[in-house]
Amino acid sequence: MNKEYILELLLTNKIRKTQFRIELLEVFMNTKYGLSFKDVKERISSTQDKVTIYRALTIFEKKGIIHKVPNTNDVSKYAICPEACSEKAHQHNHAHFICTQCEKTFCVDEIELPILKKVKGYKIKRSNLTLEGDCPDCI
Ligand SMILES: [Zn+2]
Ligand SMILES: [Zn+2]
Repeated sequence: MNKEYILELLLTNKIRKTQFRIELLEVFMNTKYGLSFKDVKERISSTQDKVTIYRALTIFEKKGIIHKVPNTNDVSKYAICPEACSEKAHQHNHAHFICTQCEKTFCVDEIELPILKKVKGYKIKRSNLTLEGDCPDCI
């Protein structure tokens, strides 16, 4: 993933490009696990303004560029969506893996999600599969 891809992503989603937003996307692309607000703040050099960071995370989530990942506590963590996701064709139908040792959350594309039986009277819009165990770094 390179800078051209990031600029394209911002352009396609009609998000104003700022040095910070580009840096933020770079951080997400270079991190394989979900990042909390605090994690993001620690990795960013172009701004430390809370409102700016929150606003960018909100816009990116709304546009489907990043998504919330399951977590062991109440802290929101975000990860970048696989390339197939976009505002229109939003999928997010991948599993997540939470490491019980380092508590990182990873997006796992390799696992095919099980097809669920229909539940009478309910319309299922999404399902989540969260796996727990030891990540490659902690095994
Ligand atoms: Zn781990
Ligand atoms: Zn994910």
